[in-house]
Amino acid sequence: MNERLLCCECMQPLDKNGKYCAKCLLERTKQHRKNYVNKKRLNKLCTLCGKPLDRTGWVCNKCTKVISDKQKIKIKYRRDNKLCVKCMKPVLDNGATCVECRKKTAIYTKNYRIKIKKRNEDMYGNTKNFRLSMLKANI
Ligand SMILES: [Zn+2]
Ligand SMILES: [Zn+2]
Ligand SMILES: [Zn+2]
Repeated sequence: MNERLLCCECMQPLDKNGKYCAKCLLERTKQHRKNYVNKKRLNKLCTLCGKPLDRTGWVCNKCTKVISDKQKIKIKYRRDNKLCVKCMKPVLDNGATCVECRKKTAIYTKNYRIKIKKRNEDMYGNTKNFRLSMLKANI
């Protein structure tokens, strides 16, 4: 018996024993993980501990607390060691983030404000046009 093994998914010859080639195996693992999370979401279970969700979102109250506690410890450690809480680069002044991260945040906030302003204008503009067309229709 000297039969070449083929990948069950893409039918490419396998270079080692198994059912799938490395590429398909990775794809399947990813898919499996996705299905696992989707199933939990569908059954309203916490995606971390698998218990029924007591809040809306991906994780239960308990896990949210664990995550935020971990986050707090991480931030405290970084602040105590004068490291940027975002990128861990040393911070020269007493700030929580480094100059670079502050710049990035400033740009992000500015863009976000512009976006919201534009959206509001669009919405307001549309309502105004809509009212005008309604008025015209009445005449
Ligand atoms: Zn394959
Ligand atoms: Zn949980
Ligand atoms: Zn930084």
